[in-house]
Amino acid sequence: MYYIGVDLGGTNIAIGIVDEKYKIIRKGSVPTRPERGVDAILDDMAALSYRLLGETGLTLDDISWIGVAAPGTANRDTGVLEYANNIPFLNYPLSERMSSLMGGKTVYIENDANAAAKAEAIAGVGAGYPYFIMITLGTGLGGGIIINGQVYSGFNFAGGELGHMVIEEGGRPCTCGRHGCWEAYSSATGLSKITTDHIVKAREEGTPTIMEDMIGGDLSRVSARTAFTAMKNGDRVGQEVVDEYIKYLASGIVNIINIFQPNVLAIGGGICNEGDYLLKPLFDRIWKETYTKEGTPRTEVTIAKLGNDAGIIGAAVLGL
Ligand SMILES: [Zn+2]
Repeated sequence: MYYIGVDLGGTNIAIGIVDEKYKIIRKGSVPTRPERGVDAILDDMAALSYRLLGETGLTLDDISWIGVAAPGTANRDTGVLEYANNIPFLNYPLSERMSSLMGGKTVYIENDANAAAKAEAIAGVGAGYPYFIMITLGTGLGGGIIINGQVYSGFNFAGGELGHMVIEEGGRPCTCGRHGCWEAYSSATGLSKITTDHIVKAREEGTPTIMEDMIGGDLSRVSARTAFTAMKNGDRVGQEVVDEYIKYLASGIVNIINIFQPNVLAIGGGICNEGDYLLKPLFDRIWKETYTKEGTPRTEVTIAKLGNDAGIIGAAVLGL
């Protein structure tokens, strides 16, 4: 049997047909274009699913179920997408609508960060462990808590928002309305903001930094890579940015480890491409600060391995 996994994002709808070994045998994507409304988006999700079935020579009879991962609050019990970021879903009966377009197949829904975590827990670096947590460092900071293969998200499906714990009271403003959330520091967006602040400060103090040349003096060209690249070239300001970023990232990870003590904590997102430049100082800080002492088995902190496919695979395994 096979599963259909739908990764519904604000920009693209990515869909894959996944086999029982959790391999994507065929995938495709179409633009979401959220402004055209939810029904048109659902029609495209169904049309692409049928196209992929046709291309693989499969029919709906070969499909066990369909899973949909969406940004926002997804009620697993009712199949209602209660709210979504950047897509105009509000209390939308997504499972029911998609099922009616797909020959009555069962349709599961889940928050996208939770689905990505479930993918890694079942088919990635968390496979075989009962307690698994994943954080994804992207535009925001997504979190997923998996216990015995199942998503933990509280009684109302809105839990597991690890990025919205405050690590700096009264700190940077967050998209959620609070100040000092972990996401505002440790997401890719947060890293860009820390970088921008340090460049501005260097200007004021007359401290030279190669980051000025890298961005051509234009602060809007700062990215999550700017400071790491500068640091690798021996830039002192770049090094300060990376140190500060790792301090906040480690602080949040240590909080999570101290609360949950998962077998494995996986980190996903483009920043992981920095490899040991990120991980070595991060691990040094984490093990200095965690509550567990010598001799106690420690959480394995590692890089997630499914990359961009985690959304599709996570959606596909929602019925497990
Ligand atoms: Zn927040």
